Amino acid sequence: MAEPTPLDGLHEQIDDVAAKLGLDGSTVDQLKQPDRYLEFSLSVEMDDGSTEVIDAYRTQFDDARGPYKGGIRYHPDVNPDETTALAGWMTYKTAVADVPFGGGKGGIAIDPAEYSDTELQRITEAYTEQLAPVIGEDTDVPAPDMNTGPQEMEWIRETYEAIRGTEAPAVVTGKAVDNDGSKGRSEATGRSVAITTDAMFEYLDHDLDEATVAVQGFGEVGHVAASLLDDRGADVVAVSDSSTGLYDEDGLDIDAVTAWNNQHGALTGYGGADEISNETLLEEDVDVLVPAAIGDVIDAENAGDIEADIIVEGANGPITYEGEQALDEDIVVVPDILANAGGVTVSYFEWEQNRADDYWTKETVNNRLEDKIRDGFDDMIDTYERQGLDSFRDAAYVTAVEKVIDAGEY
Ligand code: NAD
Repeated sequence: MAEPTPLDGLHEQIDDVAAKLGLDGSTVDQLKQPDRYLEFSLSVEMDDGSTEVIDAYRTQFDDARGPYKGGIRYHPDVNPDETTALAGWMTYKTAVADVPFGGGKGGIAIDPAEYSDTELQRITEAYTEQLAPVIGEDTDVPAPDMNTGPQEMEWIRETYEAIRGTEAPAVVTGKAVDNDGSKGRSEATGRSVAITTDAMFEYLDHDLDEATVAVQGFGEVGHVAASLLDDRGADVVAVSDSSTGLYDEDGLDIDAVTAWNNQHGALTGYGGADEISNETLLEEDVDVLVPAAIGDVIDAENAGDIEADIIVEGANGPITYEGEQALDEDIVVVPDILANAGGVTVSYFEWEQNRADDYWTKETVNNRLEDKIRDGFDDMIDTYERQGLDSFRDAAYVTAVEKVIDAGEY
């Protein structure tokens, strides 16, 4: 039997929710179908004068709640199935975080390491020329994703503004702070991981001060989550990146680990703790496990060895469907669509600031983020209790689907 694709996974999730809400067949079909899927062939001149033809995509999944919103990734494996599934998940992430956006996603099927900066700029410009008729601050607002960042957003904005003949900073988010971006964006996803962890401890009437934490991944999401959970009183006993894992049963000195990582670009070589593997980190007997590196790290094979009481999903999809079925039923999972929704929430704040031409302090951004994520958490809990659901993931999806249905013509 063929491996299930990401789109199969999205459809399975929608079917699950549909069964819980008793939705009719035509509503389910509408929820599964993207509004629009675009496929482009970009003809781009390379530095040696040759022309390369490159595949690129954008899926506009649902805009019932606001403009399509979602990243653009540059990766050789980018394909229509994955792009559409990711656009669908963005629809539910924006709904659960209650930001007035829909869901979109795009990508260019290249390995950016194989191109010069000038070639990447021309590829991005060619893609934007194709996208220009269908994106805009009120229609579809792209953002960075895998292997893209402020530079690509700047190229998209400049190309779009030249074609439309108008200033349009809000056509993309994820811009550099000195180029109309928002303060607090780079920390926002790790921050929402810490906020949802804190909120779940309060809900369960547990004390975060007494808690031990393990964080897999020490990048933009993982290192901020580790540092903020440390600030909020927890003992972060284990962290890892792709080079190694670190463990100290009395709690790591997160400032010292961060300083080492900033200086050396990796955790390996840090002498102040025991070294452990990534597999061991996942199986540590901690109160909270934060997988914040890559997807599919907890699967049917290792799920039975997970000892954490609460898993807070910093990464997208760190637990496979089969992995979740095999987890001890007492383990609480705070789902990715809420736990890592801080990024898209501050993207919305960036869009708002651009449109009002009024820029907020970092403190304002962080306070509004805390409020928004806590409201999303409360909505999820409300659904969990009202519907008598078995998991917070189901509660988050049911909340999101209800909001999308309420806003659309289903
Ligand atoms: P990043 O590239 O900044 O950091 C990734 C970290 O994971 C690095 O420390 C890397 O060494 C580590 N890593 C990579 N492979 C690993 C492996 N096999 N085992 C252990 N560690 C490994 O990425 P990020 O922005 O922190 O994103 C992490 C995850 O969060 C991704 O799944 C991403 O899709 C998701 N996410 C990120 C954001 C955001 O705003 N950055 C928003 C939503 C979701």
